[in-house]
Amino acid sequence: MTAALVSLTSLGKRFASGTEALAGVDLAIAAGEFLAILGPSGCGKSTLLRLLAGLAPPSSGSIHWSRPPGPRDIGFVFQEATLLPWADALANTALPLRLAGTPPGERNARAAEALAAVGLAGFEHALPRELSGGMRMRVSIARALVTNPAVLLMDEPFAALDELTRHRLNDDLLALHARTGVTVVFVTHSVSESVYLASRVIVMAPRPGRIAREFHIAAASPRPQGFRTSVAYAELCHDASLALAAGMA
Ligand code: ADP
Repeated sequence: MTAALVSLTSLGKRFASGTEALAGVDLAIAAGEFLAILGPSGCGKSTLLRLLAGLAPPSSGSIHWSRPPGPRDIGFVFQEATLLPWADALANTALPLRLAGTPPGERNARAAEALAAVGLAGFEHALPRELSGGMRMRVSIARALVTNPAVLLMDEPFAALDELTRHRLNDDLLALHARTGVTVVFVTHSVSESVYLASRVIVMAPRPGRIAREFHIAAASPRPQGFRTSVAYAELCHDASLALAAGMA
């Protein structure tokens, strides 16, 4: 494995309410890795992403980056696309660059490139209401990628989409990961999605939120044609389901 991009050591988060959202989390994430964090609601997945993004401080333990990330080195994608309704796809995608003071010519060129990378070339001037749910999520991913981040944190980004759109976005995200080499940390409560996407799955358990299991997915990435309906995939899902159940026990 390549050197860790970020290492979490004995990481804990206790909220003022007394909830222990995370306890004793030890995790090293390699540069370029596609890591899935799998677990039921309330096991601390979002809290872990927020701590990684620097949006909240840990209560205990530490987060060590091999190179301290700047504000634009981390891209964050949420379950909702959260686009500005009055701005077109290009302006929505360019927003982080605009906030960073990048001149209009450069930011529009980079936003157009990011939209093309998520399969939305030709939709630059569409408004969010003119786009499908899947397309809005693509814009949200383009916006997260436009600053060329070292790491992409994704918090159940496809949970609200229909299954076929979700499958399509899964494949496109894997292709994008292979092309760009961006490190991805992907939170999901779907066993099948975690197995389809990641090369390593961390299974979390609640009260307190902690890592219960970890396993590696030995399959080529991007997944070969027909993988979703293959016996190998079904077996990997089966193993992951058992790990999830054991983690909850
Ligand atoms: P998940 O993403 O796995 O659903 P979360 O990280 O959102 O889990 O939450 C983990 C636990 O921490 C839950 O019990 C949740 O209610 C609690 N929690 C999350 N955010 C806060 C907060 N800001 N204040 C108090 N408790 C919180």
